[in-house]
Amino acid sequence: MEIVKKLEIISRENIDKLYKWKVEDIMREEDIPSFFEDIKAGFAEIIAFSGKLNPDNCIECFLVQSKISYKLEKLYVFVHLKSDEDKSITKYSELLDKVSMLAVEFSTVCSFISPTVAKFKKQELIKMRDSEKYSYFSMYIDSLIRNKKRLLSTKEEAVLANVSSFSDEFDNIFGMFDNVDVNLGEIEIDGEKQKLTHGLYSVMLQNPNQEVRKKAYDAVYNGYISMVNTLAANYAGNVKQEYFWTRMRKYKSCLEKALDGKVIPVSVYNNLISVVKKYTPHLHEYVALRKKALNLNEMYMYDMYVPIVKDRNNLTEFDAAYKIVTEALSPLGDEYVKTLLDAKKDGWIDVFETKNKRSGAYSFGVYGTHPYVLLNHRGTTHDIFTIAHEMGHAMHSYYSNNAQCYEKAGYVIFVAEIASTVNEVLLIKHLLKTAEGEERKYLLSYYIDMIRTTLFRQTMFAEFEKFAHGTIESNEALSAENMTEYYSKLNKEYYGESVITDKNIGYEWARIPHFYRDFYVYQYATGITCAINIANMILKDSSAVNSYKKFLSAGGSMYSMDILNLVGLDLTKKEPYEVAMKEFCATLKELKKTVRGK
Ligand SMILES: [Zn+2]
Repeated sequence: MEIVKKLEIISRENIDKLYKWKVEDIMREEDIPSFFEDIKAGFAEIIAFSGKLNPDNCIECFLVQSKISYKLEKLYVFVHLKSDEDKSITKYSELLDKVSMLAVEFSTVCSFISPTVAKFKKQELIKMRDSEKYSYFSMYIDSLIRNKKRLLSTKEEAVLANVSSFSDEFDNIFGMFDNVDVNLGEIEIDGEKQKLTHGLYSVMLQNPNQEVRKKAYDAVYNGYISMVNTLAANYAGNVKQEYFWTRMRKYKSCLEKALDGKVIPVSVYNNLISVVKKYTPHLHEYVALRKKALNLNEMYMYDMYVPIVKDRNNLTEFDAAYKIVTEALSPLGDEYVKTLLDAKKDGWIDVFETKNKRSGAYSFGVYGTHPYVLLNHRGTTHDIFTIAHEMGHAMHSYYSNNAQCYEKAGYVIFVAEIASTVNEVLLIKHLLKTAEGEERKYLLSYYIDMIRTTLFRQTMFAEFEKFAHGTIESNEALSAENMTEYYSKLNKEYYGESVITDKNIGYEWARIPHFYRDFYVYQYATGITCAINIANMILKDSSAVNSYKKFLSAGGSMYSMDILNLVGLDLTKKEPYEVAMKEFCATLKELKKTVRGK
């Protein structure tokens, strides 16, 4: 069943410490009890400000809040990393629960601060924002000033606070269905019946046998279709509550409200859709090529994930893989490369799969300590891309943490996926310089699929969200029928005639968890768009590296559009999207030459 033969799992103790992260760099394990005590004591310090907060003493309250927040974060990250090393050690999972509860308590304790400060006179807030004393908090104060005009009376705000305590339950309801109650049925693998899970489903979709893919696809969709009216009502409920907040906060549309949280203009969203839509004929071309490469008489949506070129059989050892990544990222300059090399020997990375270790890969960390990267390296080509991707996140944090204070170091999701994807694009371009034959074909199709799933697919989702919110905004009903009909139409428009839009695929909206975070997925599409632009800029002109370093160092010290301006990107214009789409076309053109089918 595995795409790659499973390697023997080694126990953690037998792994050289060079290949394990050094969690002890964050804090000493024996200090955990005193961290708990300090945090609890800090709560009392914060509560003492309740009802007494004014523009003069506010800074003291902010500083205590920051101090506690930092301690809490350190503790959380430490315990989180420790528990991921071995999920069977209950000590850490129990500690993680305790710290999470402490974090909830912390946000309750602090909940009076923002509403109180937001009520200060605007002039007072501007003075605070611009003063040296409040410099760590200037972005936070600026967001309060920006939203001041949206506040209602004290009484009305109290009612709204009560409403907000349950208005986002639709997401929880969906989560309960999607993670607990949904029945995805059983499938037969090698003569053995197995319960289908979300994870197994994505593996099954890559199975070379079309019949296997179809069975898994039908089973999964049946699970959602059997509850589709409930799911439709729940999703409509979620959109209605978004529309409620849109009106309460005096926005023109749900889209404007969602984007304004990170100060993103609506044109960024609309440009994305209009340019990507224009290029859908090229996606149709790719889909036709895929059908030919897979030698299929009829192609369905469940045939979209099976690789059209097989990965090489030999695996790349971690040291060799890391060397490839380092070479690929050399256009980012000596300093970047040196830090990458140091990261490898200084305990940033937990490399190998060990017993009960958390699966997958991620980058995580806390201000004041180097970033951490979890891998489960086996050595496939995809694993090499994972190193580049996760080290991109880690280096982003490294630069931001070095340049910014704790309060301004954290960056938002809108820019987060850019740094990781720039590295992936640089890696592809590096490998393509020398790759030939099947390897070259594999890389081209890897890149095409990356753009297809991250740029085209997420944009299609973005378009669906616009439809759903628009329907509620114009006082029409959102039902299983009209959503499914619209989704089918979108699917045809995006993927074209070479793939059969069967009855199942129209229901795909019912199984996308991200739709409960309204207008969120478009950020994956803008992320890869920016990454392709930046990688091309750097390869064309090495002086772009300096601007890119400024981007990496900005953390959360500016709004996202201003951070993108540092690298000369303006998403309120269509050009960056055109650049990304042309990259798709050029890659497709080359791939086409290599594919021979019936
Ligand atoms: Zn990522």
